Amino acid sequence: MECKECGKQYILLSNHVLKAHGIKPDDYRRKHNIPLMQPLADDELRNHLSSKAQIRALTTEGVAHIRRMLATCDRQAQTGKKRDLPECSVEHCHVKNEKKSASFRERKLPALLVDWNNGMSIRDVSLKHLVAEVTLRKWVQEGYLPKRKRVYVVADSAS
Ligand SMILES: [Zn+2]
Repeated sequence: MECKECGKQYILLSNHVLKAHGIKPDDYRRKHNIPLMQPLADDELRNHLSSKAQIRALTTEGVAHIRRMLATCDRQAQTGKKRDLPECSVEHCHVKNEKKSASFRERKLPALLVDWNNGMSIRDVSLKHLVAEVTLRKWVQEGYLPKRKRVYVVADSAS
């Protein structure tokens, strides 16, 4: 994305205009007649960072990491080299999330397992231990929780 102040290419323009020209992103948009809702980032970058959910999932550390990666990208862009988009930034955020969910699981599992093994329904376990039913099903799939035995009630037609 081209900076209308200096004509250079930047991936995350909002970062650049503030740092290099001391212009707030909204002022930059007003000055250059850019709609206020329009993001000051490359389409390439936005597609790369796939979903908004992922961007939201970034921790403060993750955001700092992306910023560092983008700075490198922008330096590469200045030298005319092919830019390497922050590949590991997204991974970084996945790793963070995995760590977070692992510690959540470790906290919840011991108490929950007792009720689970006593045959409490998924819904009741979910409500009592404040773990989403989807998460519980995932833990079963991943082998952290034993599979529930299905109970088939067969109507006795012989009687
Ligand atoms: Zn500029």
